[in-house]
Amino acid sequence: MVEIDTILLKVASQCNINCSYCYVYNMGDDSWADMPNFISQDTIKSVSKELKELCINQQRSFAIVLHGGEPLLLGARRLEALLHSLRSAIPEHYCISIQTNGMLISDKILELCSKYKTSISISLDGPETIHNANRVGHHGENTFHRVKAGIEKLKSHPDSEFLFAGLLAVINPHSNPHDIYNFFKSVGTSSVDFLYRDGNHDKLPFGKTSFNSTEYGKWLVSLLEIYLADQTPIKIRILDDIIRLALGGIGIKEGVGITDFGIAVIDTDGTVTKNDTLKSSHKGADRFVEKWNINIHRLIDIFSSNEFANAHELQRPTSSICQTCSELQICGGGMPLHRWKTGTNYANPSIYCNDQLHIINKVKTILFGLEKCA
Ligand code: SF4
Repeated sequence: MVEIDTILLKVASQCNINCSYCYVYNMGDDSWADMPNFISQDTIKSVSKELKELCINQQRSFAIVLHGGEPLLLGARRLEALLHSLRSAIPEHYCISIQTNGMLISDKILELCSKYKTSISISLDGPETIHNANRVGHHGENTFHRVKAGIEKLKSHPDSEFLFAGLLAVINPHSNPHDIYNFFKSVGTSSVDFLYRDGNHDKLPFGKTSFNSTEYGKWLVSLLEIYLADQTPIKIRILDDIIRLALGGIGIKEGVGITDFGIAVIDTDGTVTKNDTLKSSHKGADRFVEKWNINIHRLIDIFSSNEFANAHELQRPTSSICQTCSELQICGGGMPLHRWKTGTNYANPSIYCNDQLHIINKVKTILFGLEKCA
């Protein structure tokens, strides 16, 4: 059986905003439109029962991330029913978190999250102009101030040290890393998880001019220099991972390193899918051939199947270029979604290959004084 690290539970299929780069709504896959708006009571019951069984059958613990759409569209009443059910099914030390745009955070939501030991990660791309460039409402409205208000509410809660799990930010390579870093420090977060923009060999990510270009790599190198010069830094997961990997350690999230991460997604109707970021490759790329549904099938049977194992294997790069790459142990071939190309499918280096080489080279130079050609 594939061991699971993260269950991404889709609890709302719609979103209260419409980010231009969103892989759920704006990259060609429209399967969200066929999903129920919210996870139902029956599906919550099935999820809880199946996760309880997974706890018994899998030694290592796993995390549950409530996701969407926008998960807080659930509202307080439905969120409480969900959290009560999940917490009754799984041990207390298993992490439950919510990935949200932060705009619907209220006192009641925070009270529930504190009661059911559920942390909150908020998506915020940077200062007002950077954030508002992509994270907009359905009519193009700016969202920055509402997100900031949500963060301030979260920070003012007595349990904020536990509740505020950090920020998720999509990199804008046209931004100034100094401004971005200083802004995030001023927000008062303990960590920022920077993500590459979605894209692939068919649809170059925003800001990249070619496969060989290094706009994101240069941006990350500037961020690294700022980060290392700071005596009281906030945590930056991608840089910490690359440094740790360069020193012989392991990564903690898909995208760098060659550790396998077991990820399963459960949609609002109970359908079990592959990593949903694959939606950015092509319509239906995250779907299994088997029509697994948590209301009918057992999770441990799904995770023991060949089809699930094959999807899990996709994390390891199949391109011969990656397999013979001297930096494979650190880079890991990047995220599968960034390897997509019509014709060769996922058997390609990441579209961020040269960016990864650029930042890895810089980290190694700092650590070991070695300069390599990248
Ligand atoms: S994506 Fe590029 S840097 Fe990463 S393993 Fe593949 S060839 Fe190496």
